[in-house]
Amino acid sequence: IVERGQPDHSVVTTCAYCGVGCSFRAEVKGSEVVRMVPDKDGRANHGHSCVKGRFAWGYATHKDRITKPMIRASIRDPWREVSWDEAIAHAASEFKRIQAKYGRGAVGGITSSRCTNEETYLVQKLVRAAFGNNNVDTCARVCHSPTGYGLKTTLGESAGTQDFDSVEYADVIVVIGANPTDAHPVFGSQMKRRLRAGARLIVIDPRGIDLVRSAHVEAAHHLQLRPGTNVAVVNALAHVIVTEGLHAESFVKDRCEQPAFDKWKAFISDPRHAPEVTEEVTGVPAAELRAAARLYATGGNAAIYYGLGVTEHSQGSTMVMGIANLAMLTGNIGRPGVGVNPLRGQNNVQGSCDMGSFPHELPGYRHVSDPAVRALFATAWGVAIDAEPGLRIPNMFDAAIDGSFRGLYVQGEDIAQSDPNTQHVTAALEALECLVVQDLFINETAKFAHVFLPGSSFLEKDGTFTNAERRISRVRKVTPPLAGKADWETTLALAEALGYPMHYDHPSQIMDEIARLTPTFTGVSYARLDQLGSIQWPCNETAPTGTPVMHIDGFVRGKGKFVITEYVATQERVTRRFPLILTTGRILSQYNVGAQTRRTANNTWHHEDRLEIHPHDAEHRGVKDGDWCKIVSRAGETVLRASISERMQPGVVYTTFHFPGSGANVITTENSDWATNCPEYKVTAVQVSPTGEP
Ligand code: SF4
Repeated sequence: IVERGQPDHSVVTTCAYCGVGCSFRAEVKGSEVVRMVPDKDGRANHGHSCVKGRFAWGYATHKDRITKPMIRASIRDPWREVSWDEAIAHAASEFKRIQAKYGRGAVGGITSSRCTNEETYLVQKLVRAAFGNNNVDTCARVCHSPTGYGLKTTLGESAGTQDFDSVEYADVIVVIGANPTDAHPVFGSQMKRRLRAGARLIVIDPRGIDLVRSAHVEAAHHLQLRPGTNVAVVNALAHVIVTEGLHAESFVKDRCEQPAFDKWKAFISDPRHAPEVTEEVTGVPAAELRAAARLYATGGNAAIYYGLGVTEHSQGSTMVMGIANLAMLTGNIGRPGVGVNPLRGQNNVQGSCDMGSFPHELPGYRHVSDPAVRALFATAWGVAIDAEPGLRIPNMFDAAIDGSFRGLYVQGEDIAQSDPNTQHVTAALEALECLVVQDLFINETAKFAHVFLPGSSFLEKDGTFTNAERRISRVRKVTPPLAGKADWETTLALAEALGYPMHYDHPSQIMDEIARLTPTFTGVSYARLDQLGSIQWPCNETAPTGTPVMHIDGFVRGKGKFVITEYVATQERVTRRFPLILTTGRILSQYNVGAQTRRTANNTWHHEDRLEIHPHDAEHRGVKDGDWCKIVSRAGETVLRASISERMQPGVVYTTFHFPGSGANVITTENSDWATNCPEYKVTAVQVSPTGEP
């Protein structure tokens, strides 16, 4: 039960779940939230909401919330409640001891895409200024890091090109490796409205997602590819467009680098990319692929929306660049109704990346090796900035096991559940001498922690989130922090104890500093956000009210760059021992690792991860609907209940990743994207067999 009587006032804030970034009025009675009402003035949601944002906020006052700091000497000892001062002092002295013994690079931090921009900015600043290294990474490493790499390389900016409302002008909508009606429900509904009004739909996905066939919506083409063959499909689409002369010659000539295009054109024209050749690898019939290519190139405004089914592959970055190639090739970029639009899973994935949470980039995606950039931040922060890129999350795990990385500060991220190959992650966490976890609950990661710092929910702090359309929206404090400190205040206390005091009285001052140091944010302030409601960056002198559509007159990098995208098969091969491919995704009522939604009434709709399996594969193995099954991969094994489903193609099984214990990541592997190390969650070779018991 989440509605608790008549409110006496309300506060406008932003949903803390997915990357749509819906605006809500939190209605409050006394000091208690009684209801969340979608805000009709919200520019991302226009008064709409889904079952997560509207109903699943009760976790904020759940009995499992930890509200007292705790420490323990080892992970085998019981927790001991201590004061904030003692916990912070203990964490700081442990980090200092480790650095004195093992060197400056032996510690690092992980920021969270669930925390605010201001909080992630402070954590990366703490790592760079107080730890003195660049060992900071974000959970975006495991979801959209290939988006950052691929879009920056081809278009010049690590972000989606359009606002959500742009879909109203699309004649053709292409959904690749995304499931908007479950994972981004409010935007999924907006997309469906546009489809019902006549836009044509192409779905590229191994699974029959709802959009393929639902009320009054039917995809013109469902390219049901084999997991891991995205790049072969996008190359085949481009091959058809080029060889049939359907590309936008004048757009390419005016807006793109000609030598790069000429080289790419010779590459893509090669007959090895023809659909008739690739269909054996991709499983997509050549005629279907040719028809989809023609529709995308000639059907009017064509917009591509994609998700983790694009990025979480060994060729995730290659695929993002392949999508950008397609958009440039057909001139489908730089006006409403077109573009390349990554659907971000978490509320602040875009923001955590913008804020410099990467080991090679300072805020605003500026490389640490650039002396001018380092000088700018060194002057502002009063410390030298290390020129060497730091460790990525998987490198931190490897270094912990090797013994060179000994201390980690994790804010609002459950790496033990969400990162691949759980056995490897837990071995790394066990090897740490000091793990500091800042979170709402004792999550899977906190089981390996030495210091627990209670986190604050989105209802308990001020700040901003940046959604999938680059929209910066205010998060406003509705109730006081249950544990006495908001997350940004905890990071300040830790920095001070480490000998690097930072002085801010309010998160608005942190945003003022971000705006001073980041060219795409120079026009952003809390006063401006209050005045405009929300702002899409870039917001500066040339775009004082923000930028709904990017790359209108030219690309951010100047000329768009075509990149050769050679298809390379994943090393994760099916064999006699592991004959099926497992792929993963989300379900409407749950959110990511489920730490929040599992503690709300949403859990009654979906209380376990299930294995979806095609009837043919189930019958072959003697698996009936509801049977417990053992799933074994090269990395490990787990047990899930089976759901027999025609959504699957034969040879491919599917599960969600919302529950600990039996979670999918016990069996996912360490394979990762060549450019960014984003894990290849979407392709794991497995065997499935019935088992009597869970
Ligand atoms: Fe929250 Fe996303 Fe649902 Fe909107 S669509 S209410 S942002 S979970």
